[in-house]
Amino acid sequence: MRIPVIAGNWKLFKKTAQALQLVQDLAPLVKDVEDVEIIIAPSFTVLGPVRSLLFDSSISVAGQNCYWEEEGAFTGEISPGMLIDAGCSHVIIGHSERRQLFGETDENVNKKSKAAIRAGLTAIICIGETLQERESGETFTVLQRQISAALSNHSTSEMEQVILAYEPVWAIGTGKTARDDQAQEAHAFIRQLVAKLLTPTIADSLRILYGGSVKPDNIAGLMSQADIDGALVGGASLTAESFASIIRYGK
Ligand code: PEP
Repeated sequence: MRIPVIAGNWKLFKKTAQALQLVQDLAPLVKDVEDVEIIIAPSFTVLGPVRSLLFDSSISVAGQNCYWEEEGAFTGEISPGMLIDAGCSHVIIGHSERRQLFGETDENVNKKSKAAIRAGLTAIICIGETLQERESGETFTVLQRQISAALSNHSTSEMEQVILAYEPVWAIGTGKTARDDQAQEAHAFIRQLVAKLLTPTIADSLRILYGGSVKPDNIAGLMSQADIDGALVGGASLTAESFASIIRYGK
C-alpha cells in the first residue's frame, strides 16, 4: 500500500515572516489529515525556523536542492547533512528549473540522490519532458534516460528513500496540467521501467508524484489514477487555503 504524498515546493518565495505565517495558517487546516504524507520545501534560510514551528506537527520539511559532497571548499552549496541539521527529512533533486537554469545533468542528479540517501534523507527525484520533446514523440525516451541515470547504482534499501516526481516541463507554472490519462500513461510507463531496471517489488512500492499546475480543482482526478501517488505542487502551495484543499482532496 503506497501512502499518498503531497509536497509543496515554495521555490524562491517567502522570507521568514511570510514563511512562518504560511506554516501557522496551514498547520491547523491539515491537523486531522492522517492518510497523506505532507511535505513542504521552503528556501534554505527559513528551514530552521519553519521546522521549529512544526515541532508538534506531522508536516515534514524538505530542501529544494543539495550538493553531493558533505563538506569542503564548495562556496554557495549546501550539503545533505546540513539539511538534516536544519530539520529536513527530504530533499528535492533534479527539479526542471535546476536542470534548465542551472545546468544540472542526469549525472549530477544521480550523485546528489546517492549523497542525500547516504546522509539519511529521502530524495524526491524530478523527471519530465519538455514541450518540444513531447511534440517530437520523445517523451518516453527522455523519461527512460533520466530514470536510468538517476537510479543508477541505487540498491534495494536505498530505493526505500526515493520518491519520483513526474513533472512535464510544459505543465510547470504554466497553468497547463497534463490530462489525467496523459499523466497516468507516463506514470505507468515509469513504474514499468523501474520494475525492469530494478525489481517489480521496488516498482510496486515506489511513490510516483505528479507535478505541473496542480490545483484544488484538478487534484482529485489525478489522484484517482492507478499509478499517481501524490503531487509536487509549486504555485498552489504558496497559500494555506489552496495547499490545504489539495492535501484534503479526498475529504
Ligand atoms: C513545481 O515547482 O514543481 C511545480 C509543479 O510548479 P507549479 O505547481 O506551479 O506548476
